[in-house]
Amino acid sequence: MVIEEIKTLTTTLPVMEHFYTLQGEGFHQGKAAYFIRLGGCDVGCVWCDVKDSWDAGKHPLWKIENLVAEVKKNVAEIVVITGGEPLMHELTFLTSALHAAGLKTHIETSGSSPLSGSWDWITVSPKKFKAPLPEILPHANELKVVIFHKSDFSWAEKHAAMVNASCRLYLQPEWDKATDITPLIIDYIKSHPKWQLSLQIHKYINVP
Ligand code: SF4
Repeated sequence: MVIEEIKTLTTTLPVMEHFYTLQGEGFHQGKAAYFIRLGGCDVGCVWCDVKDSWDAGKHPLWKIENLVAEVKKNVAEIVVITGGEPLMHELTFLTSALHAAGLKTHIETSGSSPLSGSWDWITVSPKKFKAPLPEILPHANELKVVIFHKSDFSWAEKHAAMVNASCRLYLQPEWDKATDITPLIIDYIKSHPKWQLSLQIHKYINVP
């Protein structure tokens, strides 16, 4: 009975939205990708632009097999699992099913919940409101730090010291502060060239 309950929990997931678009941020910027936004987040960023995602109970539960079938209606090669905070869910069955369907699995996470699933690309975006678990950072392929205030540069450096040597490092202006913050990021990158600029190009080209 307990095993059945666990299986039920992990083979269905609350889905806020899913859509085929271009990845707008980071290393894979500009590539076609199918996004699955899972419901549920306990991080609480004050500037969050997807607050509707926070309450997992507001979003319909999808069977993983149906979700994969939905993705396969497109020619997508990459599936990005985002949220919310997707690692609030056990994602082993989801990534197994996506891999079995020939898809690449990418995740965007704050790293604040334990890592589950098998991933082709892990983006960790650490948030001050609930810090990442130290054991997740060495698995990151990409560290993407949203800069909201100039104090966030030291937050970025603290986490850059915890990732592996091949991890890509990105600084991204918080959207509503971009006019003021982007020049500070440009100056910072010029004096700390291990970092790169990430812009949310999907917001500039007006796609989801
Ligand atoms: S982690 Fe993401 S979804 Fe959660 S509050 Fe922060 S920005 Fe919003």
